[in-house]
Amino acid sequence: MSLSENKVFLGWSSKVGNKKQKIKKSVIGGRLTGAPVQMWKSRLSWRIALSVFLTILTVQVSILGLTVQNYEQERLRDVSTAGRAAIVPLISNNIVDMLASPMSQEDMKRLTTSTRVNGIAIYSRADASLLAHYGAPLALVLRGLKNIPQNYYGSDGSFYEVVFKPHELGRPYYIVAQMDSAHVSEQVYAYIEQTILIMLLMSAFVTTVLMIALGHWLLEPILFLRDNLMKASENPEDPNILDSPFDSSDEIGGAIDVALSLIRQNAENIKRIKSAAEDQIHKLAYYDTLTGLPNRIFFLQSLNERIQAQEGDNPDRFAVIALDLDHFKDVNDSMGHNIGDAILRAVGKRLRASMPESAIVSRSGEDEFAITMALTKDVNSARDIAERVAGVIRSEPFKVFNENFQIRASVGVSTYPDDGIDPDQVLKNADIALNRAKEEGRDTIKEYSEDFDLAVQQRFQMLRDLRDAMEKDQLLLNYQPQLDLTTGRIIGAEALIRWWKPDNSKEGGYFIPPVDFIPIAEQSGLIVPIGEWVLRMACESAAAWQKAGYGMRIAVNVSGAQFHQSDIVSCVSKILQETGLEAGRLELEVTESIFMEDINHTVETLQQLHGLGVELAIDDFGTGYSSLSYLRLFPIDRLKIDQSFIRNALNNPDDAAIARTIVRLGHSLNLKVIAEGVETKEHEDFLLKENCDEVQGYRYSRPVPIDNFNEFVKNYTGELSSFSES
Ligand code: C2E
Ligand code: MG
Ligand code: MG
Repeated sequence: MSLSENKVFLGWSSKVGNKKQKIKKSVIGGRLTGAPVQMWKSRLSWRIALSVFLTILTVQVSILGLTVQNYEQERLRDVSTAGRAAIVPLISNNIVDMLASPMSQEDMKRLTTSTRVNGIAIYSRADASLLAHYGAPLALVLRGLKNIPQNYYGSDGSFYEVVFKPHELGRPYYIVAQMDSAHVSEQVYAYIEQTILIMLLMSAFVTTVLMIALGHWLLEPILFLRDNLMKASENPEDPNILDSPFDSSDEIGGAIDVALSLIRQNAENIKRIKSAAEDQIHKLAYYDTLTGLPNRIFFLQSLNERIQAQEGDNPDRFAVIALDLDHFKDVNDSMGHNIGDAILRAVGKRLRASMPESAIVSRSGEDEFAITMALTKDVNSARDIAERVAGVIRSEPFKVFNENFQIRASVGVSTYPDDGIDPDQVLKNADIALNRAKEEGRDTIKEYSEDFDLAVQQRFQMLRDLRDAMEKDQLLLNYQPQLDLTTGRIIGAEALIRWWKPDNSKEGGYFIPPVDFIPIAEQSGLIVPIGEWVLRMACESAAAWQKAGYGMRIAVNVSGAQFHQSDIVSCVSKILQETGLEAGRLELEVTESIFMEDINHTVETLQQLHGLGVELAIDDFGTGYSSLSYLRLFPIDRLKIDQSFIRNALNNPDDAAIARTIVRLGHSLNLKVIAEGVETKEHEDFLLKENCDEVQGYRYSRPVPIDNFNEFVKNYTGELSSFSES
């Protein structure tokens, strides 16, 4: 049965519910105690009984109609017989004259006074002539022997006249006698009264017997059934129903058995559906459907329960680990969600398998997992657990659809109760630590420190200030020259943003370095309008050089966020058009990190930019992750060796080797190579020796405001040797 069917059932029960009260009263008592009483209260019984009663009565009344006539006839026959019996002995046997009356006047007089005979007329047998008449005048008169009437009953029933024929009398005469019959109607009335009484008694008796039978065989079972249906409707899930005491071989007993088993089945079904639905709801609410692991809510609840369940003076400490897969979004975007999902499942499985049974391993977000376990004597540091977790992910690639995926993770660690006494807070702190790990280049583990909170607050403040700075024109651009190592010519400049934050100090303010605010601008998306502003300012300056006849280009830094969150191609082409700068005089510096996100989009964007004629450089080359094979795919013009290699090249052979390799790599790919961070003559000599093409650094000029830069260009002799040894 589905949930909706269940609803139908419940709906039915509520409909029945409003009659509940009435019915309840009538069913109290049940079969053995209250049924006879019930019977007299039952409308159904009364209807059946009344119709039976009336039917019997109607039949009996019709029968009575017929029998009353017979009864009256019989009584009249009695009157006639009695009359004849009184007359016959008075007729003389000695018949002399057939035309003389055979009865004397005295006899006739005696007859009328001592019997019911009121009047008498004697007719001759031969011609029906009247021989004698005595007493009351008669209604029946014989007129000849044809059509002799039989009898006559007075309209008021007071007399009855009969014609006695010779064969009835045994004498050769016709005698018409009128008898008093007033008593007959009285007898008839008495008969009717008596019969009706008997009929009523009979009907009542039959009805009573019927009522008892109905009550026993019909009403009791029906009430029992109704009682149980009511209980089922009140509580369909657990109906308190009784077993049927009725004979299940009869129709109603059988029907009751079927109904009871349906009620029980229904209860079973509801219970099953309910518990299945509860399980399902629980699963949906507390488990992640993809990995089958508990979700964040369940994680927090379980951690809370474990903390609450602790007793004693020395409660357990718990490690809480927040783990985020590095660059998982790229895998999803480039390989499709099927692969992404399969990797997440595999990660979940591997994490679960690597942790003891007592640990809670949950999927707390899209590519985030949270783990907690109690710290013990053996494992007493949360960091150890975090290392194990990160190691498990890193240990070997994930094989999905026959492809290997090397996944790495950033991990944040916090400990209960050291980093919070509220599980929610402990997990939040692990998340803060995780964010730190991500910011510090990912693939690392960070333990929560209270300073992080402060840092988070400071960042919020800085973000607010940065928004303010944009409106108040506190952002400016500095320019740092880039020179050709072999010719010594100034080939261009890199535009570097500066934030001048005024304050009440003697200097009137201070500079906030871009490394402090650019990451915040990137995270908040504020880098998009800032980047557009930088691009416009830089292009305007370069357009001025172009106009003044200088052959210099401008290099502008572009963040990954600008690549992925805005339409940088149309922004660049619009600004080039508006400032009139030749596209070839603009170079965009991107870092290798842009290759880590949505690779297809990155390639497409770089190609479109290159299509505009804009040059592209990879900044800080050698510090990122980018695979060398990418370099051939992208339309790159220049590699910019990261300044850390130059700084250390003279005293660290490894860094020197890297710098050397980058130069060779660039040349083998037909790219120009520029070195930044060139501070000394020694750096310059090293780069000259390694055949580096271009240089940028404090040795030539610090980044300076536009006027100073223009001054620098004007004063430059064109000789690298003109720069002092510093
Ligand atoms: P970057 O693009 O690698 O810029 C070079 C950084 O090295 C600049 O730092 C520059 O002042 C510094 N530098 C140049 N020569 C030397 C040197 O000889 N010695 C030393 N020690 N440092 C030198 P800055 O201006 O603080 O910028 C830092 C980073 O901020 C830049 O690194 C760049 O990634 C970012 N940035 C600066 N301006 C912008 C911008 O307009 N947009 C974006 N998205 N990022 C910017
Ligand atoms: Mg740069
Ligand atoms: Mg750089």
